Amino acid sequence: MLTPISGRLRAALAPLSAAAVLAGLLAGCSGSGANSPAGADKAGASARTESPAARATAPDDGAYRRWGLDKPLAAPPAPPAARMTREVKEGGAPLVVRRVPTKDKVVFVTIDDGAEKDPEFVKMARELKLPFSMFLTDDIARAGSGYGYFGGLRDAPGGKAAANGVHNHTLSHPNLRTLAPEAQRREICGQQDALEKRFGTRPALFRPPYGNYNDATLTAAGSCGVKAVVLWEVTMQINDMRYAQSGGLRPGDIVLAHFRGPQELKGTSMTKMVTNMLRSIQAQGYTVARLEDYL
Ligand SMILES: [Zn+2]
Repeated sequence: MLTPISGRLRAALAPLSAAAVLAGLLAGCSGSGANSPAGADKAGASARTESPAARATAPDDGAYRRWGLDKPLAAPPAPPAARMTREVKEGGAPLVVRRVPTKDKVVFVTIDDGAEKDPEFVKMARELKLPFSMFLTDDIARAGSGYGYFGGLRDAPGGKAAANGVHNHTLSHPNLRTLAPEAQRREICGQQDALEKRFGTRPALFRPPYGNYNDATLTAAGSCGVKAVVLWEVTMQINDMRYAQSGGLRPGDIVLAHFRGPQELKGTSMTKMVTNMLRSIQAQGYTVARLEDYL
């Protein structure tokens, strides 16, 4: 059973793994490279139960063709009966997750920042019943048409049980390692408050910009209700995914993508980028599951 990583264990993990550096270099967020310890990553067998969210994700016939796929996204298996995360005790640190421990041939799609607000992607996500998790930065998500767009993405066709998660990616997207503990707290807890006010739910998950964090980040996140810090080992570019480990996708991979449009994607639309990602996931024999069903 996984528990929040102790200070001693974090220290033991502190030397940078090649994977951690590579994951940072592959990060779409421009800026300094990742400098973060490896997250908890242990496999554990779990009993399964029927899941309304899993049942609700079966895509309707034909939608996949409209969005450039050769076959529907396979419904994911029922998620584990027990989730990985626990309430963080006072002064404790949340779990750090770089890849979800599972043997299921599933991956998790995460989409960051919130700059591009393409209405076509809302249509695509709903028609494909695509599960994904959003990590929103207040400054970026609030610009233009604002948070309403993400509310539309959160409300999935399967109802509340299948809703897409809206999670914390700070107020202003700083490199948290350069900030004092109190400033980190403002960035993380400020966005917890903003998202709770906007969406009525306090986010359980947090992703530090550029994957950069330190002990003060974990303490701050734990103090304002974050249950897990979500990192990644796979990054979606424009046409292809890039992997921290050679050999392509592995069960439980967390794929980092961004809300980006043609300006950032060299003329490619967000929906085309997502199609490219889903085609590659399918070609490798995987399907997409909901991160919140595992964490
Ligand atoms: Zn970001």
